[in-house]
Amino acid sequence: ASIDAPNSSIQSENRALVVQGVSEKIVGVLGGGQLGRMLCQAASEMAIKVAILDPSENCPASSFSHYHMVGSFDDSTTVEEFAKRCGVLTMEIEHVDVATLDKLEQQGVDCQPKASTIRIIQDKYLQKLHFSRHGIPLPEFMEIDNDESARSAGKLFGYPLMIKSKRLAYDGRGNAVAKCEEDLTSAVSALGGYERGLYVEKWAPFIKELAVIVARGRDNSVLCYPVVETIHKENICHIVKAPAAVPWKVRKLATDVAHKAVSSLEGAGVFAVELFLTEAGEILLNEVAPRPHNSGHHTIESCYTSQYEQHLRAVIGLPLGDPSMKTPAAIMYNILGEDEGEPGFRIAHELMTRALALPGASVHWYDKSAMKRQRKMGHITIVGSSMGIVEGHLKSLLKEDNPDDA
Ligand code: ATP
Ligand code: MG
Ligand code: MG
Repeated sequence: ASIDAPNSSIQSENRALVVQGVSEKIVGVLGGGQLGRMLCQAASEMAIKVAILDPSENCPASSFSHYHMVGSFDDSTTVEEFAKRCGVLTMEIEHVDVATLDKLEQQGVDCQPKASTIRIIQDKYLQKLHFSRHGIPLPEFMEIDNDESARSAGKLFGYPLMIKSKRLAYDGRGNAVAKCEEDLTSAVSALGGYERGLYVEKWAPFIKELAVIVARGRDNSVLCYPVVETIHKENICHIVKAPAAVPWKVRKLATDVAHKAVSSLEGAGVFAVELFLTEAGEILLNEVAPRPHNSGHHTIESCYTSQYEQHLRAVIGLPLGDPSMKTPAAIMYNILGEDEGEPGFRIAHELMTRALALPGASVHWYDKSAMKRQRKMGHITIVGSSMGIVEGHLKSLLKEDNPDDA
């Protein structure tokens, strides 16, 4: 130890003089799912070190990370221990222990985006309150805590009525639709009852769902990715078309709303803004994610700077990259589990093998150990010279998959 000590102090002096690569900061990511995996993949190009905290030893990001701490991102002591080893703390999932993030921030830990942002976003009702106070257009909403308030919400907003759980929602788990007043009780109990914390939203009669990825640097510079169309299957994002085929005015409005929404939140990183487009050409905000998002997978192949690289640049404090598309059109298809276990793996394998033969197609497999129905297992992005062409390729891929659909 007596020999080591002077050595290490010389080393740290050298380190202060010479920066190795674009950044020596270890980026700590709470969560190690597919988004974490793609963050690690983007990081590897510039040798940025990404550490992940995830309870599952063989989570999708594990093998690509600089360091994987096995533990819960919802546990105070674990998050604190993890934060100590990182230069900046960020996340790929918003359902993290925000009280600890708050505390860490007060102790000087660098969280990007800020804990205040995560607190607002992880509770969808708080999120709605926040955005309505900031003048962002939203479907009307109301908290419900008993049958009486649920019925009066139904009278006020009409049916169908969207009931949502405030917390821990993803892929539509946490949403239930009541088609009429008689449905209210079963919809509420399907979500775990009022104790779970529920609110309702007026039904948004959208003609399309749109999304915008917004990047904000540490210097508060903001860049927006092109507006995309998202198509959901049973509440799960299934297909993304980039750019969205909507009039210029709609693109401008969607981008403005997304920009305004993100500007009301604190901290650096990429944010995804989910939007509804109504028949009348109105844009309503659905929700915001404080991290890279399914609607931005296509950016890996179709944009000059992918959302993953952009997120790393933003949280570290490097200059942001160009978010524009370098290909005229892209379509992203999520590979959702179609069956449990072995049969599910076989179906996905066949689909990917056929996709590999398609021009412009890139296959991403997340390497999750368990195959479940409706689980996001991978995705395929097809780029090409027009939306017609990439749609045609996807159609031919899926036709072979299911001849009944042809
Ligand atoms: P994610 O996986 O995007 O986090 P989530 O579980 O948070 O999803 P939401 O985004 O709230 O769920 O809703 C999922 C889908 O349900 C939306 O993309 C949309 O298709 C539909 N939806 C949500 N809110 C409404 C609404 N008020 N009116 C009509 N449809 C809605
Ligand atoms: Mg959500
Ligand atoms: Mg959503």
